[in-house]
Amino acid sequence: MLKDEDRIFTNLYGMEDRSIKGAMARGAWDGTAGYIKNGRDWIVEQVKASGLRGRGGAGFPTGLKWSFMPKESDGRPAYLVVNADESEPGTCKDREIMRHDPHTLVEGCLIAGFGMGANTGYIYIRGEFIREREALQRAIDEAYEAGFLGKNAAGSGWDFDLYLVHGAGAYICGEETALLESLEGRKGMPRMKPPFPAGVGLYGCPTTVNNVESIAVVPTILRRGAEWFSSMGRPNNAGTKLFGISGHVENPCVVEEEMSIPLRELLDRHCGGVRGGWKNLKAVIPGGSSVPLLPADICNDAIMDFDWLREQRSGLGTAAVIVMDQSTDVIKAIWRLSKFYKHESCGQCTPCREGTGWMMRVMDRLVTGEAEIEEIDMLLDVTKQVEGHTICALGDAAAWPIQGLVRHFRNEIEDRIKYKKSGRVSSIAAE
Ligand code: SF4
Repeated sequence: MLKDEDRIFTNLYGMEDRSIKGAMARGAWDGTAGYIKNGRDWIVEQVKASGLRGRGGAGFPTGLKWSFMPKESDGRPAYLVVNADESEPGTCKDREIMRHDPHTLVEGCLIAGFGMGANTGYIYIRGEFIREREALQRAIDEAYEAGFLGKNAAGSGWDFDLYLVHGAGAYICGEETALLESLEGRKGMPRMKPPFPAGVGLYGCPTTVNNVESIAVVPTILRRGAEWFSSMGRPNNAGTKLFGISGHVENPCVVEEEMSIPLRELLDRHCGGVRGGWKNLKAVIPGGSSVPLLPADICNDAIMDFDWLREQRSGLGTAAVIVMDQSTDVIKAIWRLSKFYKHESCGQCTPCREGTGWMMRVMDRLVTGEAEIEEIDMLLDVTKQVEGHTICALGDAAAWPIQGLVRHFRNEIEDRIKYKKSGRVSSIAAE
């Protein structure tokens, strides 16, 4: 269990003063210039040594990502872009940082910007986050007034400007290259990669896009040391993590915990347990809507980190844990996600544009049971044709939840179809 003194986000619940005064009293902006004066390579090395992996879903090592930025400018400016779009269903962790602890992010932007050679940072926040935008803008204004941003930011000798830009609510703008398109004023449509943003990103210049939490933890990592951060969690899964738990638990919440915490401990300790007790658990989506669900028997031993969940063919994603108890119509729950992805597909590539519609229409029939048993495999086949064949990961995100459903709940799907045809409940469904 994470000790209180190891928490990075000390005002996650907004009980304390979120202004710069309050943030500084909690340790923010302490010694920032000194860390910057240690040099760019030192900062990147510290972040690498901490073992921090991106908190936006993919889990790519953050320090390594920063090191892809050019060491010497070829005349083009470099940009830091913070992805605050947070549109993944079930995910609401960055929201808490931005509205209650915004200075962790603002200070992190200055340090990260310096670490990658950027004099300018953009935070792209989703349009629906109105109060969060206000809180964050206030924090940015306060930092400018205090001399922590702008010319010679925080007395470090580094110039750094930070801008807050709000989107219009499209899920796809959370995809890093679609986000860059949107920032440039165009429709949020993902770009082909390569070239990767570190070479050709915003306005054709070297750019690194990072998640809010990935940037907001950096100042504390430097203050407390890479070793401190890497000492938490299992090897390769270091640090603390914000978990957002929703669904059928007694007290849904966002909580900072040590990485690799067992799922059951997470739910029991912070959420008052599963509604109706652990035995009432049916399934959990462990990392936001795009990762495959896990049935209750796997949840018994589940460890909440990147590697364990990947071994179970699921993922930590954004650590948005969606809990479903026995009352859940799990087929309908996944259908709802299929509908979401169909709606949010940007339509640029055929497998995604057509495939998400196909998948949703088959899911429509599986929900009512008005389907043939063979359609289950046909659906699985369609998910395989979409997965890995699209410009961005939305295609995968639409395919994976269905694959998880068929993998773990095929009996339930078949029972529903058989029941629709015969009117008889099978022995499995009657259990
Ligand atoms: Fe657009 Fe879907 Fe292709 Fe992504 S996978 S670029 S969302 S059509």
